[in-house]
Amino acid sequence: MVETTPTSDKPAESAQRLAVVRDRIVRAAQQSDRPADTVALLAVSKTFPIEAVDAVAAVGQRAFGENYAQEGVDKAQARPALEWHFIGPIQSNKTRGIAEHFSWVHTIDRLKIAERLSAQRPANLPPLQVCVQVNISDEASKSGCIPGEALALCQAVAALPNLKLRGLMAIPEATPDEATQHRHFAALRQLMLDINAANSALQLDTLSMGMSDDLEAAIAEGATMVRIGSAIFGARTYMNT
Ligand SMILES: *Cc1c(COP(=O)(O)O)cnc(C)c1O
Repeated sequence: MVETTPTSDKPAESAQRLAVVRDRIVRAAQQSDRPADTVALLAVSKTFPIEAVDAVAAVGQRAFGENYAQEGVDKAQARPALEWHFIGPIQSNKTRGIAEHFSWVHTIDRLKIAERLSAQRPANLPPLQVCVQVNISDEASKSGCIPGEALALCQAVAALPNLKLRGLMAIPEATPDEATQHRHFAALRQLMLDINAANSALQLDTLSMGMSDDLEAAIAEGATMVRIGSAIFGARTYMNT
């Protein structure tokens, strides 16, 4: 488990930074002639204490993202009225807590994990909303299926009873080069269009892409959900990873 103590960032400052992020989203949407409410904001609270979550929830933020299974389950159990999204790599021995306490999982990149999440989803809960993670920029990172495998994985995931396949997610390599940011995000959008064209039953409607440093490019290329951590909560300090 990752424990951190953000010393310089008080929870109240997170609420102020949230307003700045909302503003960036509205302006980016306007520039692309998109209604701002077509872009959902996921506040990525990994490594930050529950007090920071509370401060941001107090000003209306409902959806929170977590990367580490135990930390995420602890927070989701502490604040069950909020909507929890799992956005980290998933080990197969950690699927149960995720299936029981999260509303969304963005990081499905193998069928085995999806099968476990579906089997372990409690019957009294709605289907787990999921995205297939794609390795769109072909970097060294091992997370995400390759684009050529995405259609087959989507079809297999869509067939599982307790999951609802919503779309695609990517974490492109971090780069300050805006043209490269746009190229990667556009590739994910095109892949979603191709998948929907290849199998009209899938009807993917979610593109989870864009983080603190590249949300403008992601929104210009069609992001429907941006995952924002440091621009809201401040710099992360990892005490033990
Ligand atoms: C940490 C993380 C984010 C947020 O990153 P920031 O750069 O702090 O906005 C978004 N998505 C994923 C998958 C993450 O792990």
